[in-house]
Amino acid sequence: MADVIILGNGPAGISAATYAARAGLSTMVIGRDSGALTKAGEIENYYGFPSPVSGEQLVQNGIEQASRLGAEMISDEIVGISYDGQFTMQSKTNEYRAATVILATGASRRAPKIQGLREFEGKGVSYCAVCDAFFYRGKSVAVLGEGDYALHETMELLPVVGSVALLTNGKEPSVEFPKEVTVYKNEISSFQGDTVLSSVVFKDGSNLPISGVFIAVGVAGSSDFAKNLGAETAGTTIVVDENMQCTIPGLYAAGDCTGGMLQIVKAAYDGAKAAMGVIKRIRTL
Ligand SMILES: Cc1cc2nc3c(=O)[nH]c(=O)nc-3n(C[C@H](O)[C@H](O)[C@H](O)COP(=O)(O)OP(=O)(O)OC[C@H]3O[C@@H](n4cnc5c(N)ncnc54)[C@H](O)[C@@H]3O)c2cc1C
Repeated sequence: MADVIILGNGPAGISAATYAARAGLSTMVIGRDSGALTKAGEIENYYGFPSPVSGEQLVQNGIEQASRLGAEMISDEIVGISYDGQFTMQSKTNEYRAATVILATGASRRAPKIQGLREFEGKGVSYCAVCDAFFYRGKSVAVLGEGDYALHETMELLPVVGSVALLTNGKEPSVEFPKEVTVYKNEISSFQGDTVLSSVVFKDGSNLPISGVFIAVGVAGSSDFAKNLGAETAGTTIVVDENMQCTIPGLYAAGDCTGGMLQIVKAAYDGAKAAMGVIKRIRTL
């Protein structure tokens, strides 16, 4: 088990890793790609580079730096995090355990803009299968998504609910779903209901009666994980204290996922601050 797992190998995650590793903590960093910096061709407002540097190069420099200092760098996509006194991160094929976690997965995408989705939040629209499956025992529900994250939420639901439909909203599923899941690839027009959600209406005019829909589009981000663990969020950003700790002890967040200035310099500062909080916590424990 690691002292700390840092989820994200962008500026926030790497900065946190350098501080944690140099303080002697067993430090694991998990990332799936180069994050926001993938698209940044030239950066010239970050300290220490006399010539512009590409985002990809900056990420590679960071990964090399953190590895050299002793952080374990892992390439994987996390689809779920649970807490039982310790944190467990799940990917499609692996589990990783740590005493503390720093969430640094960058800015969260917003839920797709589909009519009725916001209106039925908490009245049929859920963002957490582990938290809410129980409310839909024996009922027909849907998962909105198409990848590993949607599959993870589907697997949480199947043993509890009556049936699960997958709504890809016009996309092709990128992973294989269990046979008992009916896949609807039609584009969605709206979610409908009276006081609570009762059906999804497709753009071709057809509809599917459902009691609940679980949103799991694309890749799970920090605010999804924070919400699932019961930490406070404000929209898609995570609420943190002055030490970057979330409202759950041992869970920290840094960088774009905490809002504010979406810049490398702020992400790096957040990461360092979160690591200092973790170091203090681990030493006290
Ligand atoms: C086109 C563009 C140009 C920019 N130009 C500049 C600039 O010139 N100067 C500047 O200061 N800022 C710039 N920015 C902003 C800057 O890139 C971000 O503020 C910064 O990268 C945020 O760092 P972060 O570590 O919080 O998140 P990110 O850099 O987004 O890193 C997030 C990390 O999380 C990982 N991740 C996410 N989900 C998962 C998951 N489920 N499992 C595993 N890993 C996951 C990703 O793989 C990635 O490693 C630019 C952004 C864009 C998009």
